[in-house]
Amino acid sequence: MQNKQEQFDRSYLEMAAVWAKNSYCKRRQVGALLVKDRMIISDGYNGTPAGFENICEDDEGHTKPYVLHAEANAITKVAKSGNNSKGATMYVTTAPCLECSKLIIQAGITRLVYKDDYRISDGIDLLKRAGIEIVNIE
Ligand SMILES: [Zn+2]
Repeated sequence: MQNKQEQFDRSYLEMAAVWAKNSYCKRRQVGALLVKDRMIISDGYNGTPAGFENICEDDEGHTKPYVLHAEANAITKVAKSGNNSKGATMYVTTAPCLECSKLIIQAGITRLVYKDDYRISDGIDLLKRAGIEIVNIE
């Protein structure tokens, strides 16, 4: 029988996967949730900044450089709120890239639960160096 924490981790990760479906990006849809004291304090999916067209790819099918990743959207959303991400757990459907990993460290997030591996692992490597607890749930 799995313990309570693992049960919650799986549930939140499933919710992040559902949230990813809100992304209008075609190449890859990623969802992220921030959970603190067993409460969802923020959410994000990959997409363009507020006020921009809801199209992630250019005419050649490449992702536009100003598309925000799900993790960055979740972190900046909580920054606009009255809450903060210190000591929070991030649930994300794909392992964070290097740029998002920097944000995760600086946002005071202490735990990361993710599902799919990213093609390069430099983000996860950086998070490990920063002492962030990493859990991979397939
Ligand atoms: Zn990223």
